[in-house]
Amino acid sequence: MGQAILETKDLRFRYDEEEGPSPVVLDGVDLQIQAGTFVAVLGHNGSGKSTLAKHMNAILLPTGGKVYVDGMDTADEEKLMDIRRTVGMVFQNPDNQIVANVVEEDVAFAPENLGVPPEEIRRRVDDALKAVGMYEYREYAPHLLSGGQKQRVAIAGVIAMQPRCIVLDEPTAMLDPIGRSEVLKTIKELNRTSGVTVVLITHHMDEAAQADRLVVMSKGKVIADGAPREVFKQVEALKEVGLTVPETTELLWELRKAGVDVSLDALSDEECAQELYQLLNQGVTP
Ligand code: ADP
Repeated sequence: MGQAILETKDLRFRYDEEEGPSPVVLDGVDLQIQAGTFVAVLGHNGSGKSTLAKHMNAILLPTGGKVYVDGMDTADEEKLMDIRRTVGMVFQNPDNQIVANVVEEDVAFAPENLGVPPEEIRRRVDDALKAVGMYEYREYAPHLLSGGQKQRVAIAGVIAMQPRCIVLDEPTAMLDPIGRSEVLKTIKELNRTSGVTVVLITHHMDEAAQADRLVVMSKGKVIADGAPREVFKQVEALKEVGLTVPETTELLWELRKAGVDVSLDALSDEECAQELYQLLNQGVTP
């Protein structure tokens, strides 16, 4: 494996301690994220996911330990611009991320600030809007768009900077189910077709299940890390920290508890249905 694009080494963090010692929010996080992967970070509210995300492009700096972006120490002030160019961030609320009155102007905003030549900006804006499926809306006023469409414009604004990695902090939290699925599809396509490394912070199991790798956080620590299929099998451990598992895993787990010999491997609805179908064919009544 090559060098990790994102790496945390014994990362520890507390918020401002001016008013006395504040609680530890990140408590020794060690992660290596390889370029081109799609990683989901799952955890209960307050588990430190957002704080971790903000360390990935130097919005926050460690209280202890290190964070490296493509080998650059985020505490190195001279590297700040390069770090921000390497890792783009997308936040929860698209309204806070859109700055212009026309979609294409909004997407052009960041590259313009970087001094990218005009012809290059035109190409980047068109490519970015096509990549998120919003090219037809390039001349729209953002406020006329749905939440999901606005969030896709915000993602286009980030990819117009051509980052190698995108960290999305609960980008679907404010969206309806259609907006959620549009945004998730966009993120997956970006990863698959352009090879952009994706870190998706979420508390939705169904979103986390679609990643290549799933990191579960609780109380500032990583408590599980692996392929979603493997992580979700640890049903007891996840329940202990207040997380549920996908309904498919839950159903199979309940069957196992009742003494039925099923595997917990099935994650998609189809796989789960297949597992149950086989049981019925064997004459077992769930
Ligand atoms: P998550 O994203 O998993 O919900 P956060 O990283 O937002 O978790 O928060 C982790 C902990 O840090 C919580 O206890 C939260 O109250 C605290 N926290 C978050 N932001 C701040 C802040 N700006 N100042 C002080 N404490 C904060």
